[in-house]
Amino acid sequence: MCGIVGYIGPREAVEFLVSGLRRLEYRGYDSAGVATIDARGSLNVVKSVGRIDKLDDRLAETPLAGNVGIGHTRWATHGAPTDVNAHPHFGGDGVLALVHNGVIENFRPLKARLQSEGYEFVSATDSEVIAHLIDSCLGKQDLSGDVAAENYQPLVEAVQAALKQLQGTYGLVVAFRDWPEVLIGAKSGSPLIVGVGDGEHFIASDGSPLAGYTDKIVFLAEHELAVVTAGSLRVIHRDQGHVSHSVQVLEIEAGAIDLGGFEHYMLKEIFEQPESIKNAMRGRLDRDAATARFGGLNLTPQQLRAMRRCLLTACGTSWHAALVGEYQFEALARMPVEVDYASELRYRNPPLDNHTLVFAITQSGETADTLAALRETKRKGCPTLGICNVVGSTIAQESDGGVYLRAGPEIGVASTKAFTSQCTVLAMLALYFGRLRDLSYAAGRRIIEELEELPDKVRTALRCNEVVKEIAGKYAHCETFLYLGRQFNFPTALEGALKLKEISYIHAEGYPAAEMKHGPIALVDKDTPSVFLVPQGQVYDKVMSNLQEIKARGGPVIAVVGEGDTDAARLADDIIEIPAVEEYLQPIVSVIPLQLLAYHIAVARGCDVDKPRNLAKSVTVE
Ligand code: GLU
Repeated sequence: MCGIVGYIGPREAVEFLVSGLRRLEYRGYDSAGVATIDARGSLNVVKSVGRIDKLDDRLAETPLAGNVGIGHTRWATHGAPTDVNAHPHFGGDGVLALVHNGVIENFRPLKARLQSEGYEFVSATDSEVIAHLIDSCLGKQDLSGDVAAENYQPLVEAVQAALKQLQGTYGLVVAFRDWPEVLIGAKSGSPLIVGVGDGEHFIASDGSPLAGYTDKIVFLAEHELAVVTAGSLRVIHRDQGHVSHSVQVLEIEAGAIDLGGFEHYMLKEIFEQPESIKNAMRGRLDRDAATARFGGLNLTPQQLRAMRRCLLTACGTSWHAALVGEYQFEALARMPVEVDYASELRYRNPPLDNHTLVFAITQSGETADTLAALRETKRKGCPTLGICNVVGSTIAQESDGGVYLRAGPEIGVASTKAFTSQCTVLAMLALYFGRLRDLSYAAGRRIIEELEELPDKVRTALRCNEVVKEIAGKYAHCETFLYLGRQFNFPTALEGALKLKEISYIHAEGYPAAEMKHGPIALVDKDTPSVFLVPQGQVYDKVMSNLQEIKARGGPVIAVVGEGDTDAARLADDIIEIPAVEEYLQPIVSVIPLQLLAYHIAVARGCDVDKPRNLAKSVTVE
């Protein structure tokens, strides 16, 4: 939630700041702002409620000059999206400006104390507290000497002292009016990276703003501060002082974050799936040993064989992938699996031990609840593995090992390719764990072949796009949808319903198809379509019976069926054909028409597909 950027170097800061905010806009988009320090030493802020375009309009009226600056695109947690609540916020009487991503849980007592010291607050945000708190700590420093010659130590100490008083999460950047040659960034619970250029530095919430500027990145770890000038970078631990840092080279192709001729990122990402799934598997299938192999599990086969159960924890779409993983692990690895919402797990107290292997599944690797659940289960002695997309993210850093999705940047707020990559990685893990246990060589070989065919199956499934578009036009006016599937396609039904809700604001419910008799069937009428997942498989006849039950009550049925299934075609009002695929891989193929259906319905209803209301991409607040 929320994107932050910073720049210091020879360029006009605002150019990088605004282009960076555009690339981070998926993280939050209710308001935005930038601040720069100009050649005369004045610290100026321009902000606006609404999208970056509106900020850009304001900047056209009130240009901001200067070679140092910070910027923010907000997803409000405290205080409505307004001009005043937009970041950057001033500290003191304007001696510093701050952008913040996260939530300060103890902002009330801090605010009361600062007010009693005479600070005046203009916004309703928790973030403004940090700005004034740093100013208050600055007041306690001796700033009479040459602060630059002292390596900006008085500024660093003021920031450190302020951060120590905060409870909650932050990724932040501070610019100081009287020291325009330095920026200080800090991270705890929200992401922050530094891009190293030639005589310039960039700060951002993730790597996307850096594409085209630099490929050299420093990932800050928890509680680290970055003290950045045009030509230098020092990393300091909040409590331990100076720490060494390593620069990683991460090629971020500008093309990966462009629309590439598609109307929306979501559609582009849906069509990228044959490739992203292939990337998830690249180099990870070992035909000779009939198993999968992973570079970063950091646990020996002996340790993994000793695991008695798996606990898969996640939020949102990743939680649906976890449910798919549960079915896959049961089928291929014969391992007991529990799936839990991370937001529930973090406050539950389930019996856990070092024979429970925890998988934290998240696209961004920053999801606040998933991170908290990871930490809680680690504390209790569980080995942990992260399954995430963003390289160097907090969950990637903090889990004992893990598997990257390699899906490339996912910018559409509604997750599509990350979901199918998660399901693919989980299938490979299930194969790997199966082969450590009871799965035979022959079965392992067969599964590898099926996995290798998967990208082509997804490519074939994408051919339904035009049919789905037509069906979307027919039903776009409906206000309630049911999504029904069984076994492996129960999570697919949940995911299909979530996609529709997220981007078209239509009420949709996903259910195990047989369960709808226990309540949701009461919703069925001629204006409530049911989307049925009925590919061939063990429960085909059962799902067909459920489909008949809906038809008998006058509900329109859209059926996702295997190629050439004339039985389903006869019963359903509309059919979408997908290629046949083994059951444990079906969700990866059957979700494709559901992603497209949500997309085309949202477009037909005039919704902002890539930036749906109230949502943001990477949920870094609790
Ligand atoms: N809590 C801050 C606010 O409401 C920052 C939210 C964000 O991360 O965008 O302004």
